[in-house]
Parts: sequence; structure tokens; C-alpha cells
Amino acid sequence: VIKNTTADLQEMDRAHFMHPSTHMRQHAAGETPNRIINGGKGIYIHDTEGKESLDAFAGLYCVNVGYGRTEIADAIYAQAKELAYYHTYVGHGNEPVIRLSDRIVKSAPEGMQRVYYGMSGSDANETNIKLIWYYNNIRGLPQKKKIISRWRGYHGSGIMTGSLTGLAAFHNAFDLPRAPILHTTCPHHYWNADAGETEAEFAKRCADDLEKMILREGPETVAAFIGEPVMGTGGIITPPEGYWDAIQKVLNKYDVLLVADEVVTAFGRTGSYFGSHHYGMKPDLITIAKGVTSGYLPLSGVIIGERVWKVLEQGSDQMGPIGHGWTYSAHPVCAAAANANLDIVDGENLTGNAADTGGYFQKRLRETFNEHPLVGEARGVGLMAALEFVADKTKKERFDPNAKIGPRVSAACLERGMIARAMPHGDILGFAPPLCITKAEIDKVIDIAKQAVDAVA
Ligand code: PLP
Repeated sequence: VIKNTTADLQEMDRAHFMHPSTHMRQHAAGETPNRIINGGKGIYIHDTEGKESLDAFAGLYCVNVGYGRTEIADAIYAQAKELAYYHTYVGHGNEPVIRLSDRIVKSAPEGMQRVYYGMSGSDANETNIKLIWYYNNIRGLPQKKKIISRWRGYHGSGIMTGSLTGLAAFHNAFDLPRAPILHTTCPHHYWNADAGETEAEFAKRCADDLEKMILREGPETVAAFIGEPVMGTGGIITPPEGYWDAIQKVLNKYDVLLVADEVVTAFGRTGSYFGSHHYGMKPDLITIAKGVTSGYLPLSGVIIGERVWKVLEQGSDQMGPIGHGWTYSAHPVCAAAANANLDIVDGENLTGNAADTGGYFQKRLRETFNEHPLVGEARGVGLMAALEFVADKTKKERFDPNAKIGPRVSAACLERGMIARAMPHGDILGFAPPLCITKAEIDKVIDIAKQAVDAVA
């Protein structure tokens, strides 16, 4: 076996590998970190140069059970030996995906009926949009097609899902279709509330903004509202008190579906099994991905609630077989990985750990940073959290974006052996460690974060 040296691999990488979300020229010129990751155990990963890092972002908030879980690897191997692939078109099934669907529907919020599978969060949200349009066409409401998401929401990088995403960097120069997607107010109390406005008042104002948008557009043209229970990539933003109740009241008034994008929050991260459980949401459609397999293999899904399912099912006599399918939908090996992963999530009560250790994390984060001059807000729920950096805490002034405070604190964490993510919007450091993290490990996360923030301050 010829093993390449790290330098060889880096040279080949720079020459032939186009990375996602990476500055292409800087990477080709060797100016960006070109770490080659080759292993992981628990909450740690390591690279070809032997450097180990505590991964306080669980990859991209997906490795919920931690790295190196041989139970999942064994399940993948066993299933690949038995049946690596057969399609699930025209009614074909396979055992792992049938068992997975059964457990997902039974553990999901009330009223969920079926799961449709994909490979990524983005394609699952593309499925959502298609199902929503199809649903309203079957109902004889061909005008009811607009989908409202929120500024700073993240829903993927596809053609329509990139449009749903309310972050400029994901729109720039791609000519994504703007219509029929609309963006409403980002529910971030810290920046967007008026002086003296309580969380509840601000939540009500967000719901009023949504209602105004629906009325301006005409309720007969608005099909759905999509939101993450807790915003992730937009900056780990927890909803203000009463937000989801107020939003759902508006949606119900105008016959607008609710899509809960739970790509990050499903399977424990908030300390509840679904984020919808945590915030009392009653979605019509739920997007899942990441935590369903902890990233061991790619798998996503749309969980379809009663209201939509009934129409789809009954409408199929009129429409015939639905013209929507991916070759790898309900892939048996990915489903086997998901079952083994969820066995760990359930068997080790990782949701309970996200509530308990997550509560400890949130407390320690606030104690450590609330008074820190660089930190405007320490926020989060369960095992997802963020620090928002500000130039002037009293006046609530942002840093000049060129100061790149978020990336600098993230780099300072990495120098001290920990990965915490500079979120792509604003000066925000994000944390979303594996759900198996212990309190002693949380202490380490806090210590390193404190040293890193002090080093940049
Ligand atoms: N939705 C949410 C809430 C996400 O956080 C992400 C990815 O981070 C996606 C959708 C897109 O998922 P993927 O990157 O698997 O396409």
C-alpha cells in the first residue's frame, strides 16, 4: 500500500478538489488551512499531522453520537453485504427503511404520517417545495404558491432552497429565482427589537410583520412558511418568548402551511427530541437530515403531516404516480446507519444529555461571557449556542466586518485545540458539540473559548 504524505495530499487537493464554501483562489494558492482529517473518537477529530481537536461543532452540527461509533460502522457493513441497494420506486421496500420510517413517525410530533427520503437537507427542502405546490394544485388552488422564509434562515444551497435561505452570501451572483420566495423579519431580539421592547412584544411584532406580508401578497397566493425552530447557520438564534405561538396563529388564519426545518434540531439537539416539541410547534411538514445518521452516511427526509398527506394520497387517483423520485431515496445502507445511530441516541438518552449537560453549558456560557466587554450576547438552548461579538457593548455597535472578529476568535480556539465555528453572518462564534459531550468536556470548551476571546479582545 502506498501512502501519500500530507504534503502530496495537499498538493493534489489544491490541484483537483473544489471545496464547498471555500475561497477558491486562496485555497489553490495554499493560503487557506488545508487540514486533512483522518480519524475521530468521541468528541475529538485528528488529522494526518497528528493534531487533535475537540470538535465543539460536531462537524457541521451533525455528528451527534460522536466519532468512531463502531456500532454504526458495523450496521453499515452488515447491510451493504446483505443488500447494498435496491430502489424504492413503485412500492418496493427494504427492511431498514421500513423500520426507520416507523420509528421516526412514532417519535415525531403528533399527526405525522409518512417519511419521504433524500440525501441532503437541501434536497429534502426542494421536496417540501414541490409537495406544497402539488398539494395546492390538487386542491384546485393553483395561485397559492408563495413560500415565506425569514432573513437569516438557512434551508440549503439548491436552486429554490438557496432562495429560501435568507443569507446574502448564498444568493450572490447565482441568479436564483426570487419569486415565489419571500423573506420576513428575523426574530433576533438582540439586534432587531426596539429599545425597551420585551421578547413577547417583539415576537408579536414579528407575527404582525408576517401577517402584513400575507395580506399584502394576498392570502390566496401564500402557500407556506418555513422556519428552523432555532435558527442555525444564520447565527444560532433562539426564538423570542411566544414567537412560534404567535406565528402559528397567523398561519392558521390564512390557511398557510408550516414547515419546520429541523435539519439541525431533530433528534435531540435542543434537549427535546424534536425542536417542534420544544417550542410547541405543530408543523405540516418537517425536514430532517444531519442527526438522523449523525453524518455517518448521507440521509435526509421530509416527514409529512396529516393535512398534506390526505390530499396527496387522495389526489393520486387524479394525478397518477407522483413524478418525484431520487435514485437513492430510502437507501437501505443509509437507513441501516440511521437505525444504528438512533439506537445510540435513544439507548444513551442523548436527548436527556442535551437537556442536562446542555443546561449546564448554557449556564456556564452566560456566567463566563455575559459581562465580557467583547460579547454582546451569549445565547442558545440545549447543545447549541453562540457568542455574538460587539465593538461597543453599551452602545450595541457592531465591528467593521473587515475586522473579522468571529474568524479570529475561531482561529484562536483552533490554536488551543478546539473547533468552534465562525458563523457565516456577522461576528458570531457557534457551538454545537456532539450530544454525547460530558460536563467535564463542557468545562474544557468554556475554558478554551474564554482564553480565545480574551486573546482577541
Ligand atoms: N436546513 C437547515 C436548517 C440546515 O442547517 C442545513 C444545513 O446546514 C440545510 C437545511 C441543508 O442541508 P444540506 O447541507 O444537507 O443540504
